[in-house]
Amino acid sequence: MNSEQTIRIKKLLNIPKKIVVVGHKNPDGDAVGSCLGLANFLQQKEHSVQVVMPNDFPSFLKWIPETDSIINFNQHTAKVRDAIYNADLIFTLDFNAFNRTGDLEALLEKASADFVMIDHHQQPDNYAVVTYSDVTMCSTAQMVFHFIEALDDLEFLNAEISAQLYTGIMTDTGSFRFPATTATTHRVIASLIDNGANNSEIHQNVYDTNTPDRLKLLGVALSNLTILTEFKTAFITLSQKELDDHNFKKGDTEGFVNYALSMEGINVAAIFIESEKENIVKISFRSKGSFSVNEFARNHFNGGGHTNAAGGRSETTLSKTTSEFISILPTYKEALNYEA
Ligand code: 5GP
Ligand code: MN
Repeated sequence: MNSEQTIRIKKLLNIPKKIVVVGHKNPDGDAVGSCLGLANFLQQKEHSVQVVMPNDFPSFLKWIPETDSIINFNQHTAKVRDAIYNADLIFTLDFNAFNRTGDLEALLEKASADFVMIDHHQQPDNYAVVTYSDVTMCSTAQMVFHFIEALDDLEFLNAEISAQLYTGIMTDTGSFRFPATTATTHRVIASLIDNGANNSEIHQNVYDTNTPDRLKLLGVALSNLTILTEFKTAFITLSQKELDDHNFKKGDTEGFVNYALSMEGINVAAIFIESEKENIVKISFRSKGSFSVNEFARNHFNGGGHTNAAGGRSETTLSKTTSEFISILPTYKEALNYEA
């Protein structure tokens, strides 16, 4: 955060306010961790704070301290509406456009509060009085740390904030391995451990949560793997029936796409997941090296994200979606053929 932004933030926070902190739809570890970490900090600074999510998050994140304080719009519609309506200030975290909040979009558009954005996605919309956007950051959780640091308030880092931010950084960096993980990230992590984040316990809480159903679903996903050597691309599909057969729960397919990317010689991976309820195919894209799946998802699948991790959707059938995907690849043949 630059010094001008820091001054504006200090001004915005110099009297106690009613603050709402909002994360994106289908909240991930970074959304939940960064929102809760910021909320805890703001509460210590005498503000009244409510964390709001558009919908529920996976159970492997429910151990995170203070998740009970989160209200989601799906289940607590009136409460969320009141909180946003009455807010003086709204922090939006880990997303760059109101349409990333699903049904909350209309409420946010109508809100009279000032907005502050803290986010690391590319091409942020311009709705905030302070837009703290840094696409080089590995996670919004690390940005929340730098936000607190810029305010000269690191003494407010407690064990809860430390665990919350640690979780956000860990999940968005694939446990500190993606390229956006820097020496600074590790210094931030060291500081979080110093302040009470139990690293080993957090890893176990998030990653050692497999159920037999989830592992068998992974087996199905892997057996549905298609490899397109010519385009250094691999993709996985999961139909609604395959999900139903394995009692699919939110979060069960998290990380599946990485198996496709983990093959030598593969630069781009995708997973296509059918959702009968939403009548869409939800897509996750991942890449190694220069190929921007953010641009690809924006141009062809109504999505976006980061250079190496993005998402999108299609409003047709699973098989038509994968056929379309395959038919687009020849356009990118040269762009896809590099040594990662
Ligand atoms: P995931 O594949 O894990 O759902 O998402 C990967 C990244 O892409 C995340 O940073 C997420 O915010 C972004 N993303 C996922 N789905 C969408 C989408 O439909 N639209 C946009 N703009 N970004 C998405
Ligand atoms: Mn993030």
